[in-house]
Amino acid sequence: MEIAAAFQSEDRLVLSYELFPPKTPAGVLGLYDHVQQLMQFRPSFITCTYGAGGSTRQKTLEVIAEVRRRFSVTVASHLTLVGSTIDDLRQYLTEAQVAGIDGIVALRGDPPKDSPEFMVTPGGFQYANQLVELIHDEFPQLSVLVAGYPETHREAPSAEVDLDNLKRKVDAGAHGIVTQLFFDNEDFLRFRDRCWARGIQVPIVPGILPPLGSDQLNRLGQLCGAKLPIALLERMNQKADADWQTAVGIEFAAQQVRELIEAGVPGVHFYVLNQSRATMEVLSQLGFERQAVAS
Ligand SMILES: Cc1cc2nc3c(=O)[nH]c(=O)nc-3n(C[C@H](O)[C@H](O)[C@H](O)COP(=O)(O)OP(=O)(O)OC[C@H]3O[C@@H](n4cnc5c(N)ncnc54)[C@H](O)[C@@H]3O)c2cc1C
Repeated sequence: MEIAAAFQSEDRLVLSYELFPPKTPAGVLGLYDHVQQLMQFRPSFITCTYGAGGSTRQKTLEVIAEVRRRFSVTVASHLTLVGSTIDDLRQYLTEAQVAGIDGIVALRGDPPKDSPEFMVTPGGFQYANQLVELIHDEFPQLSVLVAGYPETHREAPSAEVDLDNLKRKVDAGAHGIVTQLFFDNEDFLRFRDRCWARGIQVPIVPGILPPLGSDQLNRLGQLCGAKLPIALLERMNQKADADWQTAVGIEFAAQQVRELIEAGVPGVHFYVLNQSRATMEVLSQLGFERQAVAS
């Protein structure tokens, strides 16, 4: 329960990074080099995503266990319930626990690309709160984080209903909420106020993606429905120069995180996209100190 404890006890900001399992062996080796760099900022924990429908099941576990072994850092595995029976989920949780994984980011997952809506697998769950309950009841040693949506989940009929559903996950035993990426801090702060008004008391951690260029921003807008920061896009588009656009994006993310820290967030979760440069530059601009990491 180191992740849950970190939010209780750390007097510093709880810094975390999110990785995804690379597709190739070369990608895996490159990833460890980037994590080595990122370790200089002493993250409290690192997570690894779980591919749609369990497509990266073994890879996720391998990668995150290896990150833990190499860097002696606390780790969490994402786990989605889509396409799995409850027994499959139990099996994964058992393996994760044996591998020394401290926490689970418990998720429903998206429907497969060829299916317009989410279908319940026979013998499986429908919503993430059920997975949280399973972990709470049967794997109480694991920390549990859940997803929150400052701009509301795309399937929810309203922000209010979505927040009621978020509360179900917290009531089922989640120790913290990590949000979907967003570019307007007002969306996050409004979401946090509404969570508080509902009596949600666990840490609410903003998910931050330093935007690297206008093409990437447009893709993200389509992929996760995030409202695009128009002023930032206009500024990036002043030059068709990748380095310029990246520098503008990093400056934007640093300012976004600075404001969130001033607003009292308990932690920041970086979507590092298996790279180190952008996140390291953001942290450096914010004055985070580096520490040497043994190789
Ligand atoms: C931090 C973070 C990490 C992520 N990592 C991954 C990953 O590794 N792999 C991956 O495939 N996807 C990942 N996702 C995406 C996520 O799987 C999708 O957004 C998915 O559509 C919803 O997952 P959820 O866990 O929020 O679902 P849920 O909390 O189950 O919510 C799904 C929808 O159902 C509604 N709902 C929830 N509970 C109930 C209920 N009891 N009754 C009625 N309605 C309900 C909600 O309002 C929402 O609209 C991540 C998202 C975030 C924010």
